[in-house]
Amino acid sequence: MFFRGSKGEIIKDFKMFGPRVYKSSPFMEQKGFSLVITGPMGSGKTTELFRQLERIEIAGGTVMLIKPVRDDRDTGVRTHGGFEREAIALNSPEEIFDYLEPEITTIGIEEAQFFDDSICGVVRVLVAHGKRVILSGLDLDAMGRPFGPMPFLLTQAEYVMKLQAVCMSCGADASRTKRKVESKEQVMVGGMEIYEPVCTACHESWLRGEREGEL
Ligand code: ADP
Ligand code: MG
Ligand code: ZN
Repeated sequence: MFFRGSKGEIIKDFKMFGPRVYKSSPFMEQKGFSLVITGPMGSGKTTELFRQLERIEIAGGTVMLIKPVRDDRDTGVRTHGGFEREAIALNSPEEIFDYLEPEITTIGIEEAQFFDDSICGVVRVLVAHGKRVILSGLDLDAMGRPFGPMPFLLTQAEYVMKLQAVCMSCGADASRTKRKVESKEQVMVGGMEIYEPVCTACHESWLRGEREGEL
Protein backbone atom coordinates (compact mmCIF):
# COMPACT_ATOMS: atom_id res chain seq x y z
CA MET A 1 0.00 0.00 0.00
CA PHE A 2 1.23 3.49 -0.80
CA PHE A 3 0.11 7.07 -1.03
CA ARG A 4 0.99 9.67 -3.58
CA GLY A 5 2.43 12.96 -2.44
CA SER A 6 1.57 16.37 -3.80
CA LYS A 7 4.08 15.99 -6.67
CA GLY A 8 2.83 12.50 -7.52
CA GLU A 9 5.71 10.75 -5.72
CA ILE A 10 5.00 7.43 -4.07
CA ILE A 11 5.18 7.53 -0.29
CA LYS A 12 5.76 4.20 1.42
CA ASP A 13 6.96 5.60 4.68
CA PHE A 14 4.51 4.36 7.26
CA LYS A 15 5.86 6.69 9.85
CA MET A 16 3.83 9.09 7.85
CA PHE A 17 1.29 9.92 10.51
CA GLY A 18 3.48 12.71 11.74
CA PRO A 19 4.20 16.16 10.40
CA ARG A 20 5.85 14.77 7.24
CA VAL A 21 2.68 13.31 5.89
CA TYR A 22 0.81 16.36 6.81
CA LYS A 23 3.05 18.18 4.29
CA SER A 24 2.90 15.70 1.44
CA SER A 25 -0.63 14.37 1.81
CA PRO A 26 -2.77 14.85 -1.30
CA PHE A 27 -5.43 16.33 0.93
CA MET A 28 -3.25 19.35 1.51
CA GLU A 29 -3.02 20.31 -2.16
CA GLN A 30 -4.72 23.52 -3.12
CA LYS A 31 -7.94 22.76 -4.93
CA GLY A 32 -9.13 25.24 -7.49
CA PHE A 33 -12.51 26.91 -7.27
CA SER A 34 -14.36 29.92 -8.52
CA LEU A 35 -16.38 32.25 -6.33
CA VAL A 36 -18.70 34.77 -7.97
CA ILE A 37 -19.67 37.84 -5.94
CA THR A 38 -22.71 39.49 -7.48
CA GLY A 39 -25.49 41.99 -6.79
CA PRO A 40 -26.41 45.53 -7.89
CA MET A 41 -24.23 48.60 -7.90
CA GLY A 42 -23.27 49.65 -4.38
CA SER A 43 -23.96 46.24 -2.82
CA GLY A 44 -20.33 45.80 -1.76
CA LYS A 45 -19.02 43.46 -4.47
CA THR A 46 -15.67 45.17 -4.83
CA THR A 47 -15.34 45.56 -1.06
CA GLU A 48 -15.97 41.82 -0.65
CA LEU A 49 -13.55 40.98 -3.50
CA PHE A 50 -10.85 43.01 -1.71
CA ARG A 51 -11.64 41.27 1.59
CA GLN A 52 -11.31 37.84 -0.03
CA LEU A 53 -8.03 38.76 -1.75
CA GLU A 54 -6.62 40.14 1.50
CA ARG A 55 -7.44 36.89 3.31
CA ILE A 56 -5.57 34.92 0.64
CA GLU A 57 -2.55 37.23 1.05
CA ILE A 58 -2.62 36.86 4.83
CA ALA A 59 -2.56 33.08 4.31
CA GLY A 60 0.59 33.46 2.18
CA GLY A 61 -0.98 33.27 -1.29
CA THR A 62 -0.06 35.53 -4.20
CA VAL A 63 -2.84 37.42 -5.87
CA MET A 64 -3.32 38.99 -9.29
CA LEU A 65 -6.22 41.37 -9.97
CA ILE A 66 -7.55 41.97 -13.46
CA LYS A 67 -10.33 44.11 -14.91
CA PRO A 68 -11.67 44.85 -18.39
CA VAL A 69 -10.18 47.78 -20.30
CA ARG A 70 -12.64 50.64 -20.24
CA ASP A 71 -10.57 53.68 -19.56
CA ASP A 72 -6.87 53.83 -20.42
CA ARG A 73 -6.08 56.34 -17.69
CA ASP A 74 -7.46 54.17 -14.95
CA THR A 75 -5.11 51.41 -13.71
CA GLY A 76 -6.68 50.48 -10.39
CA VAL A 77 -9.88 49.12 -8.95
CA ARG A 78 -11.80 51.29 -6.46
CA THR A 79 -14.64 50.67 -4.06
CA HIS A 80 -17.35 53.27 -3.47
CA GLY A 81 -15.80 53.61 -0.03
CA GLY A 82 -12.53 54.80 -1.65
CA PHE A 83 -10.27 51.75 -1.18
CA GLU A 84 -8.05 50.97 -4.15
CA ARG A 85 -5.90 48.13 -5.47
CA GLU A 86 -3.63 47.87 -8.47
CA ALA A 87 -5.09 45.90 -11.37
CA ILE A 88 -4.08 44.78 -14.84
CA ALA A 89 -6.54 46.01 -17.50
CA LEU A 90 -7.17 43.40 -20.20
CA ASN A 91 -9.11 43.44 -23.47
CA SER A 92 -9.58 39.69 -23.56
CA PRO A 93 -9.72 37.16 -20.69
CA GLU A 94 -7.16 34.90 -22.47
CA GLU A 95 -4.52 37.55 -21.78
CA ILE A 96 -4.58 36.38 -18.14
CA PHE A 97 -2.22 33.58 -19.18
CA ASP A 98 0.41 36.14 -20.33
CA TYR A 99 0.60 37.44 -16.76
CA LEU A 100 0.14 34.22 -14.84
CA GLU A 101 3.38 33.71 -12.87
CA PRO A 102 3.70 30.28 -11.22
CA GLU A 103 3.53 31.72 -7.71
CA ILE A 104 0.09 33.24 -8.33
CA THR A 105 -2.46 31.19 -6.41
CA THR A 106 -5.49 33.45 -6.84
CA ILE A 107 -6.90 35.53 -9.66
CA GLY A 108 -9.35 38.32 -8.83
CA ILE A 109 -11.58 39.50 -11.66
CA GLU A 110 -13.44 42.81 -11.34
CA GLU A 111 -16.48 43.86 -13.44
CA ALA A 112 -16.68 40.38 -14.95
CA GLN A 113 -19.92 41.29 -16.77
CA PHE A 114 -17.92 43.36 -19.28
CA PHE A 115 -15.78 40.44 -20.50
CA ASP A 116 -16.96 38.27 -23.40
CA ASP A 117 -18.10 34.64 -23.04
CA SER A 118 -14.53 33.32 -23.40
CA ILE A 119 -14.07 34.23 -19.74
CA CYS A 120 -16.09 31.12 -18.79
CA GLY A 121 -13.57 28.75 -20.41
CA VAL A 122 -10.63 30.70 -19.02
CA VAL A 123 -12.04 30.39 -15.48
CA ARG A 124 -12.61 26.63 -15.94
CA VAL A 125 -9.01 26.09 -17.12
CA LEU A 126 -7.64 28.11 -14.19
CA VAL A 127 -9.78 26.18 -11.70
CA ALA A 128 -8.74 22.84 -13.24
CA HIS A 129 -5.11 23.89 -12.64
CA GLY A 130 -5.74 24.49 -8.97
CA LYS A 131 -6.18 28.27 -9.09
CA ARG A 132 -8.70 30.17 -7.02
CA VAL A 133 -10.70 32.59 -9.14
CA ILE A 134 -12.73 35.24 -7.34
CA LEU A 135 -14.97 37.31 -9.60
CA SER A 136 -17.16 40.31 -8.97
CA GLY A 137 -19.80 41.51 -11.41
CA LEU A 138 -23.32 42.81 -11.95
CA ASP A 139 -25.79 39.99 -12.54
CA LEU A 140 -28.39 42.29 -14.17
CA ASP A 141 -28.19 45.33 -16.40
CA ALA A 142 -30.27 48.45 -15.76
CA MET A 143 -33.23 46.97 -17.67
CA GLY A 144 -33.16 43.87 -15.46
CA ARG A 145 -31.67 41.56 -18.11
CA PRO A 146 -28.88 39.06 -17.39
CA PHE A 147 -25.57 40.80 -17.98
CA GLY A 148 -23.02 39.35 -20.44
CA PRO A 149 -21.34 36.10 -19.29
CA MET A 150 -22.65 36.38 -15.70
CA PRO A 151 -25.34 33.66 -15.99
CA PHE A 152 -22.67 31.15 -17.11
CA LEU A 153 -20.14 32.29 -14.55
CA LEU A 154 -22.72 31.98 -11.76
CA THR A 155 -23.85 28.50 -12.74
CA GLN A 156 -20.36 27.05 -13.18
CA ALA A 157 -19.07 28.57 -9.93
CA GLU A 158 -18.41 26.41 -6.88
CA TYR A 159 -19.43 29.33 -4.64
CA VAL A 160 -21.75 32.29 -5.13
CA MET A 161 -22.37 35.34 -2.95
CA LYS A 162 -25.33 37.55 -3.85
CA LEU A 163 -25.20 40.87 -2.02
CA GLN A 164 -27.89 43.50 -1.51
CA ALA A 165 -27.54 47.27 -1.55
CA VAL A 166 -30.03 49.73 -0.03
CA CYS A 167 -32.92 50.90 -2.26
CA MET A 168 -32.48 54.61 -2.91
CA SER A 169 -36.27 54.99 -3.38
CA CYS A 170 -37.68 53.18 -0.32
CA GLY A 171 -34.81 51.91 1.87
CA ALA A 172 -35.52 48.18 1.38
CA ASP A 173 -32.87 45.67 0.29
CA ALA A 174 -31.90 46.42 -3.29
CA SER A 175 -31.08 43.73 -5.83
CA ARG A 176 -31.48 45.82 -9.00
CA THR A 177 -29.71 48.77 -10.56
CA LYS A 178 -31.66 51.62 -12.13
CA ARG A 179 -30.23 54.08 -14.63
CA LYS A 180 -31.01 57.68 -13.83
CA VAL A 181 -30.37 59.02 -17.33
CA GLU A 182 -32.11 57.89 -20.49
CA SER A 183 -30.26 55.44 -22.75
CA LYS A 184 -31.00 52.30 -24.73
CA GLU A 185 -27.40 51.03 -24.54
CA GLN A 186 -26.68 48.03 -22.30
CA VAL A 187 -23.20 49.31 -21.53
CA MET A 188 -22.90 52.88 -20.36
CA VAL A 189 -19.92 53.35 -18.09
CA GLY A 190 -20.61 55.32 -14.96
CA GLY A 191 -20.98 55.32 -11.20
CA MET A 192 -23.56 56.50 -8.71
CA GLU A 193 -24.11 59.71 -10.74
CA ILE A 194 -25.77 57.61 -13.48
CA TYR A 195 -26.96 54.51 -11.63
CA GLU A 196 -28.65 53.80 -8.32
CA PRO A 197 -29.54 50.61 -6.45
CA VAL A 198 -33.26 49.92 -6.07
CA CYS A 199 -35.43 47.07 -4.78
CA THR A 200 -37.38 44.88 -7.21
CA ALA A 201 -40.70 46.71 -6.65
CA CYS A 202 -39.21 50.16 -7.20
CA HIS A 203 -37.29 48.86 -10.22
CA GLU A 204 -40.50 47.43 -11.73
CA SER A 205 -42.41 50.69 -11.30
CA TRP A 206 -39.48 52.59 -12.85
CA LEU A 207 -39.42 50.13 -15.79
CA ARG A 208 -43.18 50.60 -16.32
CA GLY A 209 -42.64 54.36 -16.43
CA GLU A 210 -39.80 53.89 -18.95
CA ARG A 211 -41.99 51.74 -21.19
CA GLU A 212 -44.91 54.16 -20.97
CA GLY A 213 -42.51 56.81 -22.17
CA GLU A 214 -41.87 54.69 -25.27
CA LEU A 215 -45.57 54.42 -26.23
P1 ADP B 1 -20.05 47.52 -5.64
O1 ADP B 1 -18.70 47.03 -6.08
O2 ADP B 1 -21.04 46.41 -5.44
O3 ADP B 1 -20.59 48.60 -6.55
P2 ADP B 1 -18.56 48.73 -3.45
O4 ADP B 1 -17.91 47.60 -2.73
O5 ADP B 1 -17.68 49.51 -4.37
O6 ADP B 1 -19.87 48.18 -4.20
O7 ADP B 1 -19.17 49.78 -2.43
C1 ADP B 1 -20.02 49.43 -1.37
C2 ADP B 1 -20.25 50.69 -0.53
O8 ADP B 1 -21.06 51.61 -1.25
C3 ADP B 1 -21.01 50.46 0.73
O9 ADP B 1 -20.19 49.98 1.74
C4 ADP B 1 -21.53 51.87 1.03
O10 ADP B 1 -20.57 52.61 1.75
C5 ADP B 1 -21.64 52.53 -0.33
N1 ADP B 1 -23.00 52.80 -0.79
C6 ADP B 1 -23.39 53.88 -1.49
N2 ADP B 1 -24.69 53.82 -1.81
C7 ADP B 1 -25.18 52.66 -1.31
C8 ADP B 1 -26.47 52.02 -1.32
N3 ADP B 1 -27.53 52.56 -1.91
N4 ADP B 1 -26.58 50.82 -0.71
C9 ADP B 1 -25.51 50.27 -0.10
N5 ADP B 1 -24.27 50.81 -0.07
C10 ADP B 1 -24.10 52.00 -0.66
MG1 MG C 1 -17.60 47.41 -7.83
ZN1 ZN D 1 -37.59 50.25 -3.15
